[in-house]
Amino acid sequence: MTERIQNFLASRRHDGPCLVVDLDVVRENYNAFAKALPDTRVFYAVKANPEPKVLKLLADLGSCFDTASVVEIKLALEAGATADRISFGNTIKKERDIATARALGVDLYAVDCKEEVEKIARVAPGARVFARILCDGSGAEWPLSRKFGCVPEMAIDVLEHAHRLGLVAHGVSFHVGSQQRDPAMWDGALASAAMIFHTLADRGIQLAMVNLGGGFPTRYLKEIPGVESYGSAIFNALRKHFGNQLPETIIEPGRGMVGNAGIIRSEVVLISKKSDAEDDARWVYLDIGKFGGLAETMDEAIRYPIKTARDGSAMVPCVLAGPTCDSADVLYEKDPYFLPVSLEIGDLVLIEATGAYTTTYSAVAFNGFPPLETIVI
Ligand SMILES: *Cc1c(COP(=O)(O)O)cnc(C)c1O
Repeated sequence: MTERIQNFLASRRHDGPCLVVDLDVVRENYNAFAKALPDTRVFYAVKANPEPKVLKLLADLGSCFDTASVVEIKLALEAGATADRISFGNTIKKERDIATARALGVDLYAVDCKEEVEKIARVAPGARVFARILCDGSGAEWPLSRKFGCVPEMAIDVLEHAHRLGLVAHGVSFHVGSQQRDPAMWDGALASAAMIFHTLADRGIQLAMVNLGGGFPTRYLKEIPGVESYGSAIFNALRKHFGNQLPETIIEPGRGMVGNAGIIRSEVVLISKKSDAEDDARWVYLDIGKFGGLAETMDEAIRYPIKTARDGSAMVPCVLAGPTCDSADVLYEKDPYFLPVSLEIGDLVLIEATGAYTTTYSAVAFNGFPPLETIVI
């Protein structure tokens, strides 16, 4: 935890759970990406944390923005980004939202099928499009499944179709899966991207850009490679597959930009057991759960570091759960979480590395619990 967050929390009475985001950490992350991938433009994935102050800082630092909806496009514009720094990166868009984006000046769109290309050709003639290809997501702790992208062979047809309809076939994109702990995972996708570039060049269509997506991890409990390892693995893969004709590249970090910049403070509401049996599991209930912002504990995928004032005393395995009346609101049970045996009801705990994918996932008022409060410092 940073000293700034520590000082801020020390001065604040705990009422409900809150997320505190330190802008200094976001700035350091942005600079680290810029240094590790010096020839690559950064398009911050707005969905990871769309707090206006975070977006403003990134806009001031020169970042571009990857958006998924008209609301996110407007947030990026309000933060000071011009429309030429915004990409509409969702492959699933309503035609009227594309028209609105176009009216706002956005000129860069993701597609993964001919049907989506046709919508764009109708309401945003002449726009630039890039085709998203499928990635298997292995090595990622929050894989993105088969919902987005098409096979590389189909991406060729999709881009050719776009070209025929008067759009600019601009490039190829992929996402290797979120919290990707293996920098080598970009290699296979870049091999496919190069194949698409070469095939289309033979048909007289010159692509320009490869969108390397997000996936850059943040530090939870396990060690992760540094951002420079990702930079060099990606650079080497680009050289291997594109030789001397390197394409223009962009990255879309979300988690890696803001994850470690935030900490949630939460309170222990209850500690109990289900029977008097000696070996019965101890249940610890916090005032935040799956519906309060910790949605990524789904299937126990993301395991957050949790700090308490009693760390150092003996640790015991606990089932960790949220406060709501939905039985799905259990964070860690299959793989119990070790917490101090001396932990007491009313203790405050710090849930670290929660700057990404927390506030935006929190329910508005399920069971009357308010959405997660965010304070940006
Ligand atoms: C969510 C998303 C990202 C960000 O992914 P991270 O793993 O958080 O870096 C990037 N690009 C697209 C298209 C996304 O949907």
